[in-house]
Amino acid sequence: MTVYACAYDLENEDLCVPAAEKLAAIHRKYQAPATFFCVGRVVEKRGAELRRIFAADPLFDIQSHTYAHRMLRDHSVHGPAIPIEEMWVEIGKAADVLAEQFGVRPIGTRSGCGFEFGMKGERERLRIIADCGMEYISTQLRGPKETIPAPLTQPFTYADDGFPDLWELPAHGWHDNVLKGFTGHPTWFPPIYPFAGRTEPVRNAQEDFEAAQPWVDHAVAEGLTFVGLCYHPWSLYRLDPNCGTMDLLLGYLHTRGVEVVTYTELYRRVSGKT
Ligand SMILES: [Zn+2]
Repeated sequence: MTVYACAYDLENEDLCVPAAEKLAAIHRKYQAPATFFCVGRVVEKRGAELRRIFAADPLFDIQSHTYAHRMLRDHSVHGPAIPIEEMWVEIGKAADVLAEQFGVRPIGTRSGCGFEFGMKGERERLRIIADCGMEYISTQLRGPKETIPAPLTQPFTYADDGFPDLWELPAHGWHDNVLKGFTGHPTWFPPIYPFAGRTEPVRNAQEDFEAAQPWVDHAVAEGLTFVGLCYHPWSLYRLDPNCGTMDLLLGYLHTRGVEVVTYTELYRRVSGKT
């Protein structure tokens, strides 16, 4: 049975608090869990408010979105990789901050921006990621030549690079900030799926949901392990201060009987670790 792995990239210092508040309420309404991949330096500034919102509720899984959202490897659109020693900051310091603020050390990191091939071929950097205690990463978030949207790539390990216990859990589809027209970014043509060729930004929560729905339907029809779309609290909130997209999407998943899980729960299921 295909599951929906629900995650948000929490990275905007100003909008993360009101957006997380709305999203937490929607998730409590559906009793649907979610992972919040949080930028460390944002949590340093807004930690008290975020702790109040998440309230150690087991529905919410706090993982890392790096310390300062810098490039973990060369990116054809966003520029060169950080020096290798800075990996200890982006991965390790971020984990320290989250552990201090939320009392639980993350085991997963989603990279800023994401890459066509995740961290494949980056052995030295993968070594640091593993040494910082990461058991999974979510870095394969892009389509051909690092365009958007991203295909429905399924979980895999970095065994080919020497890390059979380190998992990659990709994200799929549009990055919602791009779909909403808030961030310019190259898209791929012809579309990677028949339903992935949208050229106009979505204008409201209903259109945003309608752009998401076929990704879910396609994953379920294909019997994939999971589908997980790429959402940002700030852009959901900027489109609609009620974050109505997620009310519609979680309602649809509930109606279709698609289970919603965190990325960490998805990691446990695919890896067999408890
Ligand atoms: Zn990000």
